[in-house]
Amino acid sequence: MVPVTLVAIALIGLSIFSAATDRPTDTVLAVSIISVLSVVAVLMTWLEARRFGRRLHTTIDELSETQTQVRQLLDNLPDAVMGLDDTGRIASANRKAAALTGRSVDDLIGRAFMEMVGEDDRDSMSEQWQRFNVGDQVNSASDRRDGSVVVFELVDKSGDPHLVEASLHLAQDGREIVSQSGAGSAVLLLRDITDRNRTTAALEQARRRFQQAFHSAPTGMALVRLDDGKIVDANQPLADMLDRPLDSLLGVAIRTLTHPEDLAAAASQRAQIELGISDAYALEQRYKRKDGGYVWARTRVSITEEDGVSLAITHIEDITEQRHSKVLLTHAATHDDLTDLPNRTALVKRLDAHLLLAQPGQVAVLFIDLDNFKVINDSLGHGLGDQVLREVAKRFRSVIRDSDRLARFGGDEFVVFVDCVSIGGQDTPSGAFVDSAAVAERLRRAVMEPIVIDGHEMVVTASIGVAVNAAPGLTADDLMRDADAAMYCAKAAGRDRVEAFTAATRQASISALQLASELRRGIERHEIVPYFQPIVDLESGELVSFEVLARWLHPERGLLMPGEFLPAAESGGMIVDLGAAILRDSLAQLAHWRARGMRFANCGISVNVATQQLVDHDFVEIVIDALGSTGIAADSLWLEITETTLMEDTVAAGSALRELRSLGLHLSVDDFGTGYSSLTYLKRFPVEAIKIDRSFVSGLGLEADDTSIVEAVVRLGHSLGLSVVAEGVETPLQLNQLRDLGCDMAQGYLFGRPRPASIIESERV
Ligand code: C2E
Ligand code: CA
Ligand code: CA
Repeated sequence: MVPVTLVAIALIGLSIFSAATDRPTDTVLAVSIISVLSVVAVLMTWLEARRFGRRLHTTIDELSETQTQVRQLLDNLPDAVMGLDDTGRIASANRKAAALTGRSVDDLIGRAFMEMVGEDDRDSMSEQWQRFNVGDQVNSASDRRDGSVVVFELVDKSGDPHLVEASLHLAQDGREIVSQSGAGSAVLLLRDITDRNRTTAALEQARRRFQQAFHSAPTGMALVRLDDGKIVDANQPLADMLDRPLDSLLGVAIRTLTHPEDLAAAASQRAQIELGISDAYALEQRYKRKDGGYVWARTRVSITEEDGVSLAITHIEDITEQRHSKVLLTHAATHDDLTDLPNRTALVKRLDAHLLLAQPGQVAVLFIDLDNFKVINDSLGHGLGDQVLREVAKRFRSVIRDSDRLARFGGDEFVVFVDCVSIGGQDTPSGAFVDSAAVAERLRRAVMEPIVIDGHEMVVTASIGVAVNAAPGLTADDLMRDADAAMYCAKAAGRDRVEAFTAATRQASISALQLASELRRGIERHEIVPYFQPIVDLESGELVSFEVLARWLHPERGLLMPGEFLPAAESGGMIVDLGAAILRDSLAQLAHWRARGMRFANCGISVNVATQQLVDHDFVEIVIDALGSTGIAADSLWLEITETTLMEDTVAAGSALRELRSLGLHLSVDDFGTGYSSLTYLKRFPVEAIKIDRSFVSGLGLEADDTSIVEAVVRLGHSLGLSVVAEGVETPLQLNQLRDLGCDMAQGYLFGRPRPASIIESERV
């Protein structure tokens, strides 16, 4: 500005000087105009220059601000960005690019990009670059693969490789933006995909592993869509398990292969999964085979998701065999081998559950004990005993109702529990008893029909005790204890009967236990003594024998009859000892009488033998000993065997009887007519006499039936060559009738009551 001003001042000065030096006026004027114009021109120029300068400043400011913004923008990009010049050197870079390469932006600028490409990828990258390079005149713009993506390895400053995904873009309009020098020709966007690649690879690997595991699993597997329940994949073991081609399983709804009864359980489990309550479950369910049969399988389901679809990974393991053996094991644990009836454990469990819901008086327990099973078992062997038990179980089963529960408690004990309400019984203890007593009576009758096994005919009877849940809160054990006590009373009352538990029952069973222990002591102390009752010959009227009848001279209770202690002796296993003592003592008594020269003692004696004695292995030995030690000839001894003993136990009885008979003693059949009139067995046993039971004799001459029975028995006995003895003769009428019928011998109050030895001695001298 100063020079311009100086020129203007110079020109003005010149024009003033020209005017002062008398130069012609025109010249002065021209110089002045020129000077003024010059000054004006100089001023104008100066002013214009100033304005332009100001504008330039503003533009430069704006530009630099924009550049800062763009840099910030670039730095904030998620990707690394680099500007490359046409030689492939880095002209610009953002912060991400610096981070990716481990270098500063300054360090990057000017560096050849290819330098950072991993060796393996360098060739292919060079080729890409060549093809892209803007400076390459051979390639037309369309050949440049603007934006094409390449994946290569980039090595950072510390030498670590990064897998990057890169795209190259032309820097046409944006070159001044990305290039700090203004020379950039391409923009390179870089993204580190090392991690992504790792995840994808891991996913891929997991998928491959799953596929491998799925198809090579030894158990059946299926992938099932949760939305429609269809099988999207299945493995060969599953196909094999269901005996179906693998292909045929695909696309099939799994519910169509599931047992209808198992669908509900599966559905509820699936619902839990759908509600997010659980993410896996296990079930045992059945699947349908092609042949329509079902396999039991343990199904374990866990949930996965693939491409937005929820899938159930379903393991299906065949457990048919396991189930089968489990069922067998459970059955074995809860059932009796022999009869296949539920056992004690099973019944107690069921009964306890039942009692919890039952009203008092609703439930009855029947405790059944066979009366003579031990004898059968001991004498005929366990094989036959087992068959008898099976037969008894079968009969029991056939007479109970569906609502009754039968169990075997082992040995010859059976228990039935009866729900009286379920069959319309009254809701009271007595109502329950009426009902259960009817069931008990049916059971008793069912068992008493003769059982024929391998040609052996046996009569088995049962003593049954009944207990009702009279009060609330009674357990199975309580009821069984009461029923057992009632059963014991049935035994004591003569067996083959039904007894109900009453308040007195427990006392009675306690008394029975007490009796048994007293009796044991009584036998040791010789409190059981023989009484003698005469048997006379009807034709001659002479004494031929004495029947020996046991009496207990109880130290406190006085004289006890056989009916008061024999049942306890039998159930307590003391009858063998008791019988042996009676046999020895009576033979000793006879020997004693004979030794004293008493004439009446020339007769014989007749001793009763219980079934348990007869089948006892030592019995023959006991008899031989007793005869030997007293010196009484076997011929003087009769043994009375009841009709039922013979029928119960034909084989053992037969062999024992033959052995006894071979000793020279005599055998008679006692209580004849009370058993089942199958007379064929009489021929099989070496018996020589039959004793007609008192019940027939009592009606002689009064009851037509009785008379004809006695008549028939006498005739039958004679036709078999047997002597016939009538028991319980009390009246002369009976005596006359018996004589008329040709009966051989008689015994009864008419001829004399059973008496102790001392009385016999004094009466008969
Ligand atoms: P049993 O063998 O039938 O004996 C006959 C029973 O009839 C005896 O009863 C006897 O006293 C009774 N009696 C005899 N004559 C008459 C009569 O005219 N009228 C009446 N009403 N009864 C008469 P007891 O002595 O009570 O014996 C009952 C049963 O006990 C016997 O019946 C017998 O089976 C058994 N018994 C008795 N002693 C023994 C024994 O030492 N061993 C075994 N195993 N059983 C015995
Ligand atoms: Ca007798
Ligand atoms: Ca008799």
